[in-house]
Amino acid sequence: MSGDDDVIRVEGLTHRFGDLLAVDSVSFAVRAGEVFSFLGPNGAGKSTVINVLTTLLPLQDGEVVIAGRDLRSNPDRVREAIGIVFQETTLDRDMTVAETLEFHGRLYGLSREERRARVDELVTLVELGAKRNILIKHLSGGMKRRLEIARGLMTRPTVLFLDEPTIGLDPQTRARTWDYLKAVNREGTTIFLTTHYMDEADQLSDRIAIIDHGRIVAEGRPDALKNALGRDLVYLETGENGRARAVLDRAPDVGSVREKGEGLLATVTDDGTRVLPRILDALHAEGVPVTAINMKKPSMDDVFIHHTGRALRDEGAGKPAPPPGRAGRR
Ligand code: ADP
Ligand code: MG
Repeated sequence: MSGDDDVIRVEGLTHRFGDLLAVDSVSFAVRAGEVFSFLGPNGAGKSTVINVLTTLLPLQDGEVVIAGRDLRSNPDRVREAIGIVFQETTLDRDMTVAETLEFHGRLYGLSREERRARVDELVTLVELGAKRNILIKHLSGGMKRRLEIARGLMTRPTVLFLDEPTIGLDPQTRARTWDYLKAVNREGTTIFLTTHYMDEADQLSDRIAIIDHGRIVAEGRPDALKNALGRDLVYLETGENGRARAVLDRAPDVGSVREKGEGLLATVTDDGTRVLPRILDALHAEGVPVTAINMKKPSMDDVFIHHTGRALRDEGAGKPAPPPGRAGRR
């Protein structure tokens, strides 16, 4: 499973906060040049993993090798090989864009020439060239995120770590941030990111690990994860779910069946366009009235539900939803 071109190799990583087992024997490998995502709900253990890998938390248990450097014996060498973008913004509001990058380069011992060249390159990459002498406090949320990405890249890291890179950004800004991350990845930087956004993991990643309660419950390429659920999903409303379910359970070409909202969601193991008429015939023969029907390809949401038994957006069900505009951090 792991090979010589692995940039990150993690075996049996476990982390406790007192009695709380936040990360439970997690193993995975990230190959050179990949975008690899940890996808999971709040509290799954994503930040804990990324904080251990980036040396912000001590390595309690397990083996971690990053860019060929052993984390336990050589945390300083690991630090030299990585860039980090944190979940919360850590920019100094009273510095300019260029000063922020310049300062970071100096902190990491880059020469004056290197710093100048790298600042020029990076403000171009994240399209902040026109803002280079603007104070951070006058930047939009999306610009700040781009600047943090640029800062993470100042030292030409082998791997860039990002914890929830687009949390709290509006959809348009999120999509642009993805474009910058793709550009960074095309430059050759391996990317490890955490997210609780299905679309982010789906669109950005070469591979995804789904993490829930501190454990990896599924891992693979986005398409492979989706295809593994069966070819298509059929959603049915009948008003008689019990009887409909019995028919579906007996039908050939039907995989798993579960309740979703008012109706039933079934995976089919053959082409849905051909299975659907057979399902309808079988329901009709049993006298089960079908009031609504829909067919779709599995989405990353379906993958998540399949492996965790619940929808990510159902998180905190039973509690009132947060008022609009307060759901994410600004
Ligand atoms: P995520 O980033 O996926 O939301 P975290 O890694 O932040 O999850 O948290 C995993 C679990 O560990 C949660 O139950 C969280 O409350 C707990 N936790 C995280 N940091 C600390 C800490 N410093 N002290 C105690 N518990 C913590
Ligand atoms: Mg987190």
